[in-house]
Amino acid sequence: MNLSVSIVGRRIGVAMTALTLGVGLAHPVAAAPAGDSTDCIDYGDLADAPAGTIPRDDLHTVHKDPLAKAVKAATSARGKGGRDTTAAAFAPVTIPVRFNVVYKDVGQGGGYLSDARINKQIQVLNKAYAGTGFSFVLEDIERKAQPEWFNLVSANGATPRYYRGSGKEVKMKQYFYGDSDSETLNIYTASLAQFLLGWAYYPSSFDPAATEGNPLPQYLDGVVLDYRTLPGVKGDTGDTTRDSVYGEGDTATHEVGHWLELYHTFQGGCTEPGDYVDDTAAEASPAFQCPIGRDTCTDTGVDPGVDPIHNFMDYTYDACMYEFTPGQATRMQTAWTSYRDIP
Ligand SMILES: [Zn+2]
Repeated sequence: MNLSVSIVGRRIGVAMTALTLGVGLAHPVAAAPAGDSTDCIDYGDLADAPAGTIPRDDLHTVHKDPLAKAVKAATSARGKGGRDTTAAAFAPVTIPVRFNVVYKDVGQGGGYLSDARINKQIQVLNKAYAGTGFSFVLEDIERKAQPEWFNLVSANGATPRYYRGSGKEVKMKQYFYGDSDSETLNIYTASLAQFLLGWAYYPSSFDPAATEGNPLPQYLDGVVLDYRTLPGVKGDTGDTTRDSVYGEGDTATHEVGHWLELYHTFQGGCTEPGDYVDDTAAEASPAFQCPIGRDTCTDTGVDPGVDPIHNFMDYTYDACMYEFTPGQATRMQTAWTSYRDIP
């Protein structure tokens, strides 16, 4: 296999011990387990996190934006990405969501998710994406008790073992995929050992030439979430994370952004072309917690303004992030048309 897949994920920050264990890992394990069929995946570095916080993602390098031309054309055609004009030009899309729950058991910490929590997650997505041209409808919930898959990213002493792209992930996704296609949003939940909040794959990462008419291979496409990131529901006693700084369901929002080809707001730092979106201020590095007024790219002339800490594609706490920009909406729409809406 000759795919080179960029992968993006969010790191979880539940306990300080997990934080300490994770931060020292500047370079995640690059190779998948021996004999794995997808050992060509490129992993990104991890961000350095200030004391008390945790990096929420891998930092991958985007060498060339595959959407640059199409986004430029769409933006000028629609009037600089204005949300109203964009909405008029892009027929709104309702994305069918299949929720695939891998759990160990139905007890505390077993990963079982109630229908109520899953429905709440869909609500969170719809609120976050309101005005972008996308909405989400729950099509199906599948659950499977499978302890081996459940521990999708496991700890090995002080070092988290990265099973993303591993045979385990492939098997899990193949089991659930069914008759999904490139327009189906498959969300998988499992335990990521509190080293990660989630991960997703860019649709552009899949090389159509290498996959012969199936540009979104079923064994990688989709969003993976730690089950604890789903929003809590009143009366639901199973692993609610309402008190967690990452427990409002915005990990799904963030990962679906990647699933629609959005980069992080700090992609490219203070230099052009940054995150390839003009109306997100340039940002030198990920923002943690909720540092209002932070401005890491002054006098550079590149997408000026204070850091976009409230943007869903930064690393701040769930309570701090609440917006996409019109430029990001245009980019996601272009990605949909280019990669997912396949005739
Ligand atoms: Zn991310």
